[in-house]
Amino acid sequence: MSDLAKDQEWDFIVIGGGITGLGTGAILANGGNKVLVLERNDNVGGRLRPTEKDGFILDNGLHLLKYGKESALYKTLELSDCHPEYIKFIPIRNYYVYIGLDDEHLKKTLDKECIDKNKWTKRGWLEVPHNVNKMKGCDYFNLWKLIRIYTTCFKCEFNDIKEKSLIKFLAEKRMCRAHGCIEVTRYLKLISTALMHCSDPHYISAGEIFRTIKWMSKRKVLFSYPKGGWQQIIDKLKNKIIENGGKVITDCEVKQLIFQKNKVEDQNAIVDLLSVEGVKTSLGDISSDNVVIAIPPKNVPNLFVDKVIIRRIMPEYQKVFESLDPVVGISIDFALDSVLYKSKTFMYVEEPSGYGSTISNIDPSIAPDGKQLMSFFFPFPHQMLTRQKMVDELIDKCKKGVYKRYPKIQDNILFERVLIHDLVDSVQVDVNNYWDKRPKPKVPGIKGCYLTGDYLRTYGASGELAYNAILTTCTKIRKIEQNYFI
Ligand SMILES: Cc1cc2nc3c(=O)[nH]c(=O)nc-3n(C[C@H](O)[C@H](O)[C@H](O)COP(=O)(O)OP(=O)(O)OC[C@H]3O[C@@H](n4cnc5c(N)ncnc54)[C@H](O)[C@@H]3O)c2cc1C
Repeated sequence: MSDLAKDQEWDFIVIGGGITGLGTGAILANGGNKVLVLERNDNVGGRLRPTEKDGFILDNGLHLLKYGKESALYKTLELSDCHPEYIKFIPIRNYYVYIGLDDEHLKKTLDKECIDKNKWTKRGWLEVPHNVNKMKGCDYFNLWKLIRIYTTCFKCEFNDIKEKSLIKFLAEKRMCRAHGCIEVTRYLKLISTALMHCSDPHYISAGEIFRTIKWMSKRKVLFSYPKGGWQQIIDKLKNKIIENGGKVITDCEVKQLIFQKNKVEDQNAIVDLLSVEGVKTSLGDISSDNVVIAIPPKNVPNLFVDKVIIRRIMPEYQKVFESLDPVVGISIDFALDSVLYKSKTFMYVEEPSGYGSTISNIDPSIAPDGKQLMSFFFPFPHQMLTRQKMVDELIDKCKKGVYKRYPKIQDNILFERVLIHDLVDSVQVDVNNYWDKRPKPKVPGIKGCYLTGDYLRTYGASGELAYNAILTTCTKIRKIEQNYFI
């Protein structure tokens, strides 16, 4: 028996010290539970963990809080008494896409619609409106067409269109390229790339994207960045667990769950009632009646090695985990020797689809004085990064795209960092992985066994799905606890 097991009784063991493990742990700890978080790496934070190099704070790929104070992460910090009001979330107010001077279709559209080209042709940038007010002064994304998208999306029921691709949906509504609405598809593609990390209109789920737009349009949402970087958020959640008598242990891999089988009578037959009893780890066995699994989904089935469970629960359940398609991606950071660009904007990038920001203009504290950090991120469906040759070509294409827009970068690089991410989001929220296809927070048939993570059946996509998963899992746990007390 390990030291952890000997001297403690844990109300909850949380497997995985990423943001969902820490967030769930902090809310449970704040509710009076003794929580043990087990992380296999030598540090917590998972995919959200930043690093430091030569005075620059580098995110693990550009990380923005996409819904600012409306984000479920903000709610998580509130619910765990982590005082988000003391963190400054710096909003990004302007959103642009680079079109360049060589987009023939765009020129024709602007000519046809008698739109003043002077605004954009000099700079090659177009504003992408993120609310109705912004739409009014917009050059290219025509107000009436955009209003039509918004009214159409308000009329649609999620369940009717969740399995429908955006391209099919727009064709049915006569709002696609074939009907002269190229900017409608372009606009929705940009929004989906940034919010859902899914840029292919053949895969974007009309239901998921319209539900997101509907949700956003009722709130004042701006992308934002936590001043000083993400580490403070990770630390706050971790400290909350420790303050309440819990522990966060690193270098501790959980190998499998331990179950207890009790014989009970169910409809005149004697059956096994399964409940969680603890976990087997690289540091020994640790017991608890409740376990929250907060690790990426492809590793979840490995924890269930018990024969009864494999026979009774896993065949169907395993298929659910295996069918989830992740998002992968390439991130590129440029640490520059001087301040070359003044913009404080969010920049959409087309071909390949991605986004970026001169992030040190948003938060100067993440770069040394007089220096600049520019970060770009390009999400791809998982099939895209399987062959090295393909990866090299994509990196080259991504870099060329950036240099075309920012030619001064190349002569002023202190260092550049290219990361290939084989896991960006655990699931690409699209026509194949919409709401119903994803698992719920309670593992069926096993008492005390819960899931959380950026693949759960809850709202949003990418990190927002992770933060909503924290709230969904905690709500489920509370409901179950209340039922036991009745
Ligand atoms: C390049 C990139 C850009 C992104 N951009 C954004 C963005 O702009 N905005 C946003 O909101 N989100 C973004 N995301 C997504 C966001 O980072 C993730 O959704 C979120 O961090 C997932 O958190 P998690 O805790 O569910 O998983 P993870 O962070 O993967 O944490 C899981 C943890 O479990 C540990 N673990 C695994 N197996 C075991 C085991 N057997 N025993 C013990 N520990 C184990 C792992 O080591 C890991 O620390 C981005 C991600 C990437 C990679």
